[in-house]
Amino acid sequence: MDFNEFNFHPKIAAGIAKAGFETPTPIQEQAIPPILKKRDVMGLAQTGTGKTAAFVLPILERLNNGPRRTVRALIIAPTRELAEQITDTIRELGRQTGLRSLSIYGGVSIMPQIKKLRDGVDIVVACPGRLLDHIYKRMIDLSKLEMLVLDEADRMFDMGFLNDIKKIISHTPKERQTMLFSATMPDDIKRLCNNVLNDQVTVKVNHTAPANTVEHALYPVEQHLKTELLRAILRNTDTESILIFTRTKHRAKRLGEQLERGGYRAASLQGNLSQNRRQEVLNGFRKGRYQILVATDIAARGIDVSSISHVINYDIPDTTDAYTHRIGRTGRAAKTGDAYTFITRADEAIVRGIERVLGEKVERRKLEGFDYKKPGPANSTEFRRQPEQKKSRGRHSLNAARKGASVKSPKSAAYRGSASKPASGGAKRQSNYRKLINSQRPA
Ligand code: AMP
Repeated sequence: MDFNEFNFHPKIAAGIAKAGFETPTPIQEQAIPPILKKRDVMGLAQTGTGKTAAFVLPILERLNNGPRRTVRALIIAPTRELAEQITDTIRELGRQTGLRSLSIYGGVSIMPQIKKLRDGVDIVVACPGRLLDHIYKRMIDLSKLEMLVLDEADRMFDMGFLNDIKKIISHTPKERQTMLFSATMPDDIKRLCNNVLNDQVTVKVNHTAPANTVEHALYPVEQHLKTELLRAILRNTDTESILIFTRTKHRAKRLGEQLERGGYRAASLQGNLSQNRRQEVLNGFRKGRYQILVATDIAARGIDVSSISHVINYDIPDTTDAYTHRIGRTGRAAKTGDAYTFITRADEAIVRGIERVLGEKVERRKLEGFDYKKPGPANSTEFRRQPEQKKSRGRHSLNAARKGASVKSPKSAAYRGSASKPASGGAKRQSNYRKLINSQRPA
């Protein structure tokens, strides 16, 4: 199938060509026709499958005709980064249509948003909290809304936005077209679908899509040797863009600085950054000014950099769900990628969970020539919560990374095509995840 079959307006077809899209992805193939027919759609798809263009293209097609400068389409997304990315996609694909879009989120001054709303926009991409502010201040009129998209609905639910979403929907016309996208379908999201969708078409893409093209590997290592191992891997591996995940903001910041001092084009993305700095870091990573981005789960949500070649879990995530989401950043849109996860003895339980989700055992790799026995620092407080660390003695030197190390295991084709589906997650894991989300909830 190619994009011509959808019969998009030449202005939109030009946007598709400019973006370099040739073949629709499976979610686009399934979702675009019913959306063009004004049907409600429930899409089970995660980031990396091409879902954004699946709803953006039909929105552009419909709004290309009819009145201008009145909000006719609203997309609600959980994070500012995702909102910005969706807006970028709208601008890129809709460049020739002259439709105006605006992203609305908190943490930045409300005035420029108010000004743009006053000047008139056609498509709004918004995070729930700030959008409600605009609604309550009567700065936005949703009475002419024709199309509503709830993107990453499960994430929004996890972040506690369900009530806000219901309130927002109560300000939109009943006869709107609604599309809901979610990577998973817990009961709460099913209930939300029953409430907000009308005679919907359900489209589903294989949850394995991003992971199918990703090769997974585990690197067992002592906590104190993680940075050294990381440097050794970086020296010995061909990489394009690398996204590294750490457990905490502090660790992200520190590791980013260590890599920068080590001569890498690295930056970190964590909750303590100003909005301007976040944007600068994200743009820098997207454009290749930074080759390495170190981030926490929350800060990295929705990052879309199509050339990410490696995701490295410096710290293993707390949940299998979070693993799937992290790995969804590489192997996007049929590119291949590698996912390396550093594991310590304390991580065995979560490793088993990940292997259950992937449906097979993940290869354990050893970096040849790397000194895995090197003792940890005697007085470091860095990893004091690790019991084995307390026993360690000796000097710790970040600059003492060994030379000449090489990856022992070559890429193994056996790990391509490994089936991954998002974990439904036990109640406990879910609640851990919520705790994690709540503890780092964006302002
Ligand atoms: P998404 O799942 O919407 O975050 O999209 C993931 C990535 O796939 C983005 O970098 C898109 O630019 C890219 N993409 C979306 N649709 C296509 C397509 N039909 N062909 C190639 N790349 C695409």
